[in-house]
Amino acid sequence: MNAALDDTHNPALQSWVASANAPDTDFPIQNLPFGRFRTEAEPDWRIGVAIGNQVLDLRAAKLIDSSDMNRLMRLLPGVRRSVRQAISEGLRVGSAQQAVFKAALHAQSDVAMGLPCQIGDYTDFYTSVHHATTIGKQLRPDNPLLPNYKWVPIGYHGRASSIIPSGQGFRRPKGQTKAPDQDAPTLGPCRRLDYELELAMLVGRPNALGEPIAMADAEDHVFGVSLFNDWSARDIQAWEYQPLGPFLSKNFASTLSPWVVTLDALAPFRVPFTRPAGDPEPLAYLDAPANRAQGAISIELEVWLQTAQMRAAGHAGDRISRSNYRDAYWTVAQLVAHHTVNGCNLRAGDLLGSGTLSGPEPAQGGSLMELSAGGKKPFALSSGETRAWLEDGDTIILRGYCQQPGFRRIGFGECRGTVLPA
Ligand code: CA
Repeated sequence: MNAALDDTHNPALQSWVASANAPDTDFPIQNLPFGRFRTEAEPDWRIGVAIGNQVLDLRAAKLIDSSDMNRLMRLLPGVRRSVRQAISEGLRVGSAQQAVFKAALHAQSDVAMGLPCQIGDYTDFYTSVHHATTIGKQLRPDNPLLPNYKWVPIGYHGRASSIIPSGQGFRRPKGQTKAPDQDAPTLGPCRRLDYELELAMLVGRPNALGEPIAMADAEDHVFGVSLFNDWSARDIQAWEYQPLGPFLSKNFASTLSPWVVTLDALAPFRVPFTRPAGDPEPLAYLDAPANRAQGAISIELEVWLQTAQMRAAGHAGDRISRSNYRDAYWTVAQLVAHHTVNGCNLRAGDLLGSGTLSGPEPAQGGSLMELSAGGKKPFALSSGETRAWLEDGDTIILRGYCQQPGFRRIGFGECRGTVLPA
């Protein structure tokens, strides 16, 4: 486990980039998330670090000699931490490198952000027991949680080609659906379009095929965490998912936020991994002292919905739910250890989705399927509109942040996507 505190987490650190010292910024000097950006003048992707409302071009600042994010993600944890240390020192008030770094800054408003890296394989897990139970109740009222749930970190292999950067719209998918009172399915636009509030763990260090990653080493293989929206077509899913699971209901678009908050930056926000009384303890390959002590991460998550009508009126949208990643049933380390226990090899840039992160309360549902009880209970928005499912023109914005007494608040930025007509 690498949740070690060092002087880059010191809450007293101030940056010569004034906007990084604002109390409400997501990107103070204690955060330093990585992303890829480009400018109109130079259209090739470059690696940047967010600082306040600026982005630091790492190559121009002479901190690295490449624009290959996947290569940077593969760095040994010690080397990666030394890069973080150098960025932190250069951005601190009084740094001797201020002039060189200042010449490597761009306003975030002047650059375009892309996917943070080249995404390899994409696996989606199902780590919220609250989500699994609520959805299970809709499908199987007598037997909501299947017997493997508390033993196996459930997951399936998704599709990476349709992972899109925050800000990009996507078309409402078409597909086969069949109403219960119909004899045959029809092809048409999805009528039950949903979002899923998730986190994406981006793999850094690879493992060789045939060599499982032990719990004690698992976090050394994870570069960091971004916000992730796994858009879902519930009517297509309901018809297609048996017996092999979701297919076209999930692979038309998934939106990833541009900034990867490193596990190093998240060190102050670690919390114990616990199980409710009476639940089984994880098998030995999913257990480790460090995981018990600090395997979970407290990340506050929010979902905002802005309809087209709200946008036209200059309304920022309604916050429709909140949850916290600490309530997940399985930790980051357990996902890595489980994924590789059979010898499966992970590669830099592989994406592990957390699954929908719903909290224990009904209002903490991480999807409309939960918030509208499968579409049966549409809910009201502050604009006077109602929603059971997403309408064309709706924008979903995911936000995340960490706060802990004695540490600087850090944030994830936002993960934004808009539904376009079919
Ligand atoms: Ca999902």
